[in-house]
Amino acid sequence: MSRVLIVEDETHLAQGLQFNLEAEGHEVKVASDGESALLHLLQTNGKFDAVVLDVMLPGKDGFAVVSELRAARNYIPVLMLTARSRPEDVLKGFASGADDYLPKPFELAILIARLRGLLRRREWMQNDGAIAQNGSAADADTFSFQGKTIDFGKLELRANGATTNLTLMEAQLLRHLVRNAGRVVSRKSILEDVWGLHEDTDTRAIDNFIVRLRRYIEENPAKPRHLLTARGIGYRFIAELGKE
Ligand code: CA
Repeated sequence: MSRVLIVEDETHLAQGLQFNLEAEGHEVKVASDGESALLHLLQTNGKFDAVVLDVMLPGKDGFAVVSELRAARNYIPVLMLTARSRPEDVLKGFASGADDYLPKPFELAILIARLRGLLRRREWMQNDGAIAQNGSAADADTFSFQGKTIDFGKLELRANGATTNLTLMEAQLLRHLVRNAGRVVSRKSILEDVWGLHEDTDTRAIDNFIVRLRRYIEENPAKPRHLLTARGIGYRFIAELGKE
């Protein structure tokens, strides 16, 4: 059983979600504005396993809530509910630190599947260095390259004495790229293997993640040497420079 916080001011929608998530076996709490959501999450740090966060809230909006959470080093998985007519919200959501998004109006089954995906990935990240798919070094809890260390368990990137916290999605995407080091990884495979999505998803969200990851791992993000673009297909991670 997981504990889920729903942050939504539309009572009708919040109650419907609560009812259905409880029917799925989750323990659910509802917060109707950003401030009380932050109180719940920051004062009971670790007690919730995931958050369903609406963007449009009275007072502090969803972007502000997730930014404040991350600033407070709280990396709970956040599924953001955005307006379908505003694709810029998706990018803004990821930039604020959301892990996944769903445009409104959504199918309940899709929301439940996305939430399940986030909870499962959190478990992977925390419990396992060893979901060995191919037994490579990339399946250890940490992966080091060129003086940088990605700690998949702690969701951290350490480089030059500085530590950057990663969101669940960032860590999961990095793990996928590292596992496939040297090989081109298509956007489609990222959608399927990292996001757990099989259709109809805007791949620009992936590009936005890559921009952020480059900021973390590249000396010069404008001229990436580790995280290369395979034009029209996807991306390729190179650990050791000078070997390609
Ligand atoms: Ca709302």
